[in-house]
Amino acid sequence: MAYVIAQPCIGVKDTACVDACPADCVHPRKDEPGYAIEEMLYIDPAQCIDCGACVPVCMQQTFGSTCHGAGRLMSRAKARTVVRGDQLRHRLESRGIVVRAGSMRDFAEETPEAYKNVSQVVGVVARAGIAKLVARLEPLAVVKG
Ligand code: SF4
Ligand code: SF4
Repeated sequence: MAYVIAQPCIGVKDTACVDACPADCVHPRKDEPGYAIEEMLYIDPAQCIDCGACVPVCMQQTFGSTCHGAGRLMSRAKARTVVRGDQLRHRLESRGIVVRAGSMRDFAEETPEAYKNVSQVVGVVARAGIAKLVARLEPLAVVKG
C-alpha cells in the first residue's frame, strides 16, 4: 500500500521527501508548475514502491527520530518498591543471565517489569510508518552506566 502524505505537510512543502524518494513519485517537485499553488505534496500511489525512504526525512511527523528503547512503565523509585535487587538477581541467574552490579538498589531499578514490552513499542512505530522492521535481535549483553 502506498504511503500517504498527511496534513502536517500543509504550508511546509520543504520537499525533503522528494529528494529521498527513489521512485520520483512525490509531487509537485519545486520545478513542477503546481508547486507554487499546492498547499502540500502528494504521493502518486501508482508509482510508490512502498520503500519508506520518505518517512524518516519528514520532520513534521517524527522530528527526525524514532524510539531508542522501550521506555519506562514505572519510575526508578517505584521499581525499587516492587522488587528487591537480590531477588531480581536470583531470578535472572536462574535463567542463565549473568549479573554484575555495583549496587543491588540501583540494579532493582532496571527490573524488566519497569519497562514496556519492546515488541509492542516497535510494532506501534512500524504501523505508524515511522520505522520499518528489518530484523529481530537478541541482546548478548546489556550495560547500564
Ligand atoms: S515510500 Fe518510497 S517510493 Fe513511496 S513515496 Fe516514499 S520514498 Fe517514494
Ligand atoms: S518531508 Fe514531510 S513536510 Fe516535507 S514536503 Fe515531504 S511530506 Fe511535506
